[in-house]
Amino acid sequence: MGEPTAFLKYPRKVSLAERQPGERLADWEDFHKDLDERALTIQASRCMECGVPFCHSGALIGGMASGCPLHNLIPEFNDLVYRNFWQKAYLRLSKTNNFPEFTGHVCPAPCEGACTLGNHPMPQPTTIKNVEYSIIEKAWEAGWVQNRTPATRSGRKVAIIGSGPSGLAAADQLNALGHTVTVFERADRPGGLLMYGIPNMKLDKKKVLLRRIKHLEAEGVTFVCNASVGSDAKPEFTPENLLATHDAVLLCAGATQPRDLAVEGRSLAGVHFAMDYLSAATKTLLDEKSESPPLNAKGKDVIIIGGGDTGTDCVATALRQGCKSVHQIEIMPEAAKARQPGNPWPEFPKILKVDYGQEEAIARQGADPRTYETTVKKFAADAQGKLTGLHTVQVKWTRSDKGQFLPTEQVGTEKELPAQLALLAMGFLGPEQNLLKAFNLTADSRSNIKTDNGKHTTSNPRIFAAGDCRRGQSLVVWAISEGRAAAEAVDTFLQGK
Ligand SMILES: Cc1cc2nc3c(=O)[nH]c(=O)nc-3n(C[C@H](O)[C@H](O)[C@H](O)COP(=O)(O)OP(=O)(O)OC[C@H]3O[C@@H](n4cnc5c(N)ncnc54)[C@H](O)[C@@H]3O)c2cc1C
Ligand code: SF4
Repeated sequence: MGEPTAFLKYPRKVSLAERQPGERLADWEDFHKDLDERALTIQASRCMECGVPFCHSGALIGGMASGCPLHNLIPEFNDLVYRNFWQKAYLRLSKTNNFPEFTGHVCPAPCEGACTLGNHPMPQPTTIKNVEYSIIEKAWEAGWVQNRTPATRSGRKVAIIGSGPSGLAAADQLNALGHTVTVFERADRPGGLLMYGIPNMKLDKKKVLLRRIKHLEAEGVTFVCNASVGSDAKPEFTPENLLATHDAVLLCAGATQPRDLAVEGRSLAGVHFAMDYLSAATKTLLDEKSESPPLNAKGKDVIIIGGGDTGTDCVATALRQGCKSVHQIEIMPEAAKARQPGNPWPEFPKILKVDYGQEEAIARQGADPRTYETTVKKFAADAQGKLTGLHTVQVKWTRSDKGQFLPTEQVGTEKELPAQLALLAMGFLGPEQNLLKAFNLTADSRSNIKTDNGKHTTSNPRIFAAGDCRRGQSLVVWAISEGRAAAEAVDTFLQGK
């Protein structure tokens, strides 16, 4: 154990690891910064090495993961960092997590939500995410991240469709086991939502994401980009051809169908899906083009419909593009500032989060950009058919006789808000169904790819599925966990062939 009474002596410190909103708004660089080693050692020393460490349990409690879904060996690496055994800490961390640099940047840290030090009216959990991030960055710097190219190859070939975190984790595992892995990606760059969803300031594409992709390539994984797999694909990318040329196919195609808003004016110029906006912004940045992206917030009043993570990323992007104003409309009520009786520790805390995008909007506009319990009635336009504003109305949530929690519009609360750009960030409805059709697979009741209960095998014994296309819209940490588990299932199948 670290220092037995450190958690009493030293407070939790996370803000030290982030650049100030005012400063970071001037660029697209990572908003995280390295904590100095002494400060980190103190933070790691606060860990009590609990007898029952909920931080690494990953159990589903109250419908959400409590603790780390990858079962990272958190108390062990905290202790090793405290004792200055950084390389050993890295070895512990890499046993369970293929890409700690991704989770160290973007994970909402269910581990911290379940930490025993958070079970207090003034929760101060161990800063596990910062420790994780620092371990992996030190490992890259020191050259401890080894090339795991296998000594011999099995002669078996695996095609992975989609290069998001689930596809990358599966590729890493299967390649290390000796199989020959090719990842087919529809976009022009690999990485899935790590590349074209999460913006650069949250996860640096060149320094962090492409560093890992290059490492995977050096280990023998092949990436084929601009490869849209499906029935209408080029002959080399059809399901028939992939099944004929590979021993197994693993679908890691994500949950890419956005939820739409069927109200008047939806088809106006200026109303777009958030993902189209975010991917255009990142692509322009990476292509290093001088012109602005086709979808741009510069000088505009921007309204984002949706108060979740995707909405936050749109806020941060719009502010950097120089929008006139940015607001978020959320139909759900504002979350409480502290845990409520129905959401006890170690459940994932369902509390109000002021994320990086909101912090930046507060710094620039003086107020949180979110308005709650509000929905959109219609989009308004000028004579040229260009968006000019949104008509909104407040809702009230009540329980119906059948126990359903339902919104009712409140008469007299209608408003018209100016907007020249509206972004729909209301979640996703599972994978694109034409991919399932092309592989002759069925969907489950939530329109995700149907697999054997709790497993990754589909109705075709040579086709497997993992990540958001199997479990629905989720988190990077779950995608990595899914990719690892699917790789195990594929390997078992290949060994039995
Ligand atoms: C804007 C945004 C921000 C997010 N922020 C966070 C965050 O901060 N933290 C967090 O933990 N989670 C976050 N998430 C969720 C997280 O990114 C996803 O849960 C995770 O990326 C899912 O991984 P995946 O591998 O299943 O799929 P994806 O990352 O979606 O990758 C799927 C890939 O498959 C490709 N593909 C699809 N169909 C085909 C085809 N037919 N042929 C070839 N390729 C195909 C797609 O182009 C894509 O690259 C965010 C999601 C969004 C949308
Ligand atoms: S629950 Fe918190 S204090 Fe306990 S072992 Fe895990 S990180 Fe350390």
